[in-house]
Amino acid sequence: MLAQELVLKQRTELLHALCSSGSSEHLERVLDLLLAHGELEWEEYQNIQIPGRALYTNARQLLDLVYTKGAVTCEGLLSALKLTLPEGQHASLSFSGCSLNRDRNVCHKPTSESLLNRRPSLVRKLQGCISGALEALTRSGHFTSGDCDEVRLPIHTPSQQARRLLDHVRSKGDPAAEVVLDFIQQKYGSGSSLNQEKVELSKEFQKFQKKLTSSVLAQSCFLSTYGGTSHMSLDEIYTDVELELSHDCTEAPLGLEDIVGTAGTKNVEADTVLVSGEAGSGKSTLIQRLHLLWARGTALQDFLFLFPFSCRKLNSEQRELSVQELLFQHCCWPDRDQEEIFQFILDHPHLILFTFDGLDEFKQSFSDEHRLCCPTQRAPVHILLFNLIQGSLMKGVWKVVTSRPEAVGPVLRKHLRKEVFLKGFSPSGIDCFVRKHHSDPTVAAKVLGSLQTNTALLGLCHSPVLCWIVSQCHRELLGCEEGSLQTITDVYMMILQHFLQHQRPEKTSVGLGWLQENKETVLHLGQLAFDGIGNTCYVFSFSHLKMCGVSEKDISMGFLILSKDMSFSHSRHYEFLHVTIQCFFAALHIVLSSCSDRSTIPKLFELQDMTESGIECFRACFPATHQEQQVPGDQDTAVEKPNLQITATFMSGLLSDRYLSMWHQSCPSTTLERKVKQVSKCLSKGLQKHFRSIPQPVAGEKKSMHAMPDFVWLIKCIYEMQETRIAKDAMSKLEVDHLKLTYCNIGPIECTALAYVLQHLKGPVGLQLDNNSIGDVGVEQLLPCMHICNALYLRNNNITDEGIGKLIPKCIQCVNFQKIALFNNKLTDACTQHFSLLLKTKQNFLSLRLWGNKIGDAGAQALADALQNSETLLWLSLVGNGVGSTGACALANIIRHSSSLEEIWLTENCITKTGVECLIQALKHNQHVKSLWLRNNHLSSEEVEDMMQRESRLVF
Ligand code: ADP
Repeated sequence: MLAQELVLKQRTELLHALCSSGSSEHLERVLDLLLAHGELEWEEYQNIQIPGRALYTNARQLLDLVYTKGAVTCEGLLSALKLTLPEGQHASLSFSGCSLNRDRNVCHKPTSESLLNRRPSLVRKLQGCISGALEALTRSGHFTSGDCDEVRLPIHTPSQQARRLLDHVRSKGDPAAEVVLDFIQQKYGSGSSLNQEKVELSKEFQKFQKKLTSSVLAQSCFLSTYGGTSHMSLDEIYTDVELELSHDCTEAPLGLEDIVGTAGTKNVEADTVLVSGEAGSGKSTLIQRLHLLWARGTALQDFLFLFPFSCRKLNSEQRELSVQELLFQHCCWPDRDQEEIFQFILDHPHLILFTFDGLDEFKQSFSDEHRLCCPTQRAPVHILLFNLIQGSLMKGVWKVVTSRPEAVGPVLRKHLRKEVFLKGFSPSGIDCFVRKHHSDPTVAAKVLGSLQTNTALLGLCHSPVLCWIVSQCHRELLGCEEGSLQTITDVYMMILQHFLQHQRPEKTSVGLGWLQENKETVLHLGQLAFDGIGNTCYVFSFSHLKMCGVSEKDISMGFLILSKDMSFSHSRHYEFLHVTIQCFFAALHIVLSSCSDRSTIPKLFELQDMTESGIECFRACFPATHQEQQVPGDQDTAVEKPNLQITATFMSGLLSDRYLSMWHQSCPSTTLERKVKQVSKCLSKGLQKHFRSIPQPVAGEKKSMHAMPDFVWLIKCIYEMQETRIAKDAMSKLEVDHLKLTYCNIGPIECTALAYVLQHLKGPVGLQLDNNSIGDVGVEQLLPCMHICNALYLRNNNITDEGIGKLIPKCIQCVNFQKIALFNNKLTDACTQHFSLLLKTKQNFLSLRLWGNKIGDAGAQALADALQNSETLLWLSLVGNGVGSTGACALANIIRHSSSLEEIWLTENCITKTGVECLIQALKHNQHVKSLWLRNNHLSSEEVEDMMQRESRLVF
């Protein structure tokens, strides 16, 4: 349907979307975008946004105007709405491929005009610093105190204040606008290239910008995983993922543009931002989304040029290149004036953004030994890339690099401005993705319903690639027996079956026939994948395929797709749909091939101690099919540990009892048995090695093991095998009092595996899982091992009241359970009902620490009520929980009578003198309490002085 028609037909829905919240924010944001993109003139805007007039009237006025302006403006409106409305509201509207055009050339306009072009980003940036901006305007004589008062009217929200400020500045002319831009520039540092409007762009330059934009747009429109079977535009399927700055921080959720924002900066000298995440967590898709938004003109508009690079593609670049050649040959070729354009890029580094997707797939490991400073000097591509990342080349250009975390060593970390962790889908993200994937809402509801009944599978779906597979295979999912899908291998077996049968639905075989019928395909693809993994090769030429016997029919199954990264090359190249699918086929190869080297399996598991030379020795197991892609004489080949580990995980799963019968036709049973034994032995040996590294405890201290990430990998392999015997055997040899798994990238998937294995531990342990990404789903997965925990530490794990509602009822039943610490999660007073029950019923409970949540006065009161019945609690911490004097007085009541409490922490709350007076009175009746911490509350220094004199146990 045409955009104009859509605006007319959906008038009621559009009005509802703009106004139903009662706030004018949606309307104003849409207006900002329309102004910025030149769809509305200033005067038109003033006619719509009349202060004091009803919101619905303003919105109607906008719809009327947009309709009369024609199709392009209508498209702009729909697009602006799509960007503005929360995703939940998208479903009720049709946007039909709308886009905002980028034609408004920002570069020749006067400064006050540029306030309009940049309005959305300025509003965002000004919100937090209105006073500073007003001060700058008053100091420079452009604003009177009356102007400031009008901006600061208390009825305005911060974003409205920002808009009113911009409107006022506009009426004062260019010099005032200049003050605001300078102010923002200073405030947000050099990364914010707001002075780009001062840049004069030549015609050729604009042409190049247009060419680059359309090339980036074309590359980023579709998702490759949907290439073979159906075309799915990124817009239709993209679902927000969870981003986090660092494990320690509890700031508001990050948006895509925050990746290049100031938040989380660790090293202001550096220009490289790392986006790290596990395989399949959505790194490439996120970068693709950034590209698309930039090319559409809806994000990252501080950058005039965005040059996208794929490390996969760079792997195949054998020539020595200069930076100029790298940019122009790999991204976009300027038809004329190459030198001038490159000079412009050199002169304006802050207007340029480079993205490098998949650094972990780059053949060479990062090193900063070969320095190169001259952008016109030729060098091998890895030297160029490393110098760009470290900033010796093109200092000041922003670079966004994606990688799996394991592949980022300390040398690279030194050169990072900041790191953003990509944690995959949130629970609501899974929901949203499934609904987008299935246009039929009944199917979506069925898939979601079946996920809800299988929490292990739901846990897996936090990984976008697994969520995609599960959605893709919904028929198999809905047809399978309950609980039969538990492990990652199960999910990949499902997609194997799905693709193999999908091609010939009329011949759908029953039982295992589907595998037999396609045995050759599996073997060929397995060989290709295995050779590739061993040689760091992800893109295959036709001759690669031929060498492994891959035929056109094998290709048509859909596991291989044409590599879009290699579109510059004359011959066709292929890659696996996703690197994890390549690992899965490599594992199938190891399992199925009857002649594979006996040392392959042990070597795959010995990776944990592998040095570079160890990896080289492992490589000897692989045929050197892809020698042509190796860099001759290069010593710094990247350690391919992550992919080999994923392969080993799949192999463990494929060799589990459940699947063995499937392989008998392809591999003699004696060989299979040998392989199973080898895997079991390797897993046991691997864990023993970890256990042996546990230091003897210092006298009086607990025996503690700090697990390394490889420990979690081994645990995941045991889970994939679904071998209780190995789990029991391994845990019977682990003797520790405290198991520390902090910063181990543990999400719901890992929790399932951990609980599967740890439940067999002999004695009770303290389980410390601080600083991971467990979330409510992960908490639920941990329940089977709660009986072996005497203490549980879950700091900074994104847990909400819902997770607590599942965890605590289970803990109440566990005799050993005595301590819990939940610092920096997302708890409110609603969770205290569960803790209250715990305190009332569990009369051996010792320590409750809820530091850094939001339980407030209501929560403190509920806990105080419950504590009346507890005779055992020694330690209570409610630091940083928004507790005021009401909460403090309630707690004072129980302190008065408690015979167990020894330490109470109420630091960083908002307790005033009244509350502390109550506490002092209570302490007069209590000799047990050793100290009560009250630092950083709402008290004057005189009050603190006086209180300290009166009660020495108060700590300020
Ligand atoms: P990574 O680069 O981390 O290995 P990808 O970006 O390739 O992961 O994601 C794998 C697949 O998961 C994609 O092809 C797509 O099907 C799905 N996916 C990932 N992120 C998203 C997202 N944000 N929205 C929708 N689907 C996604």
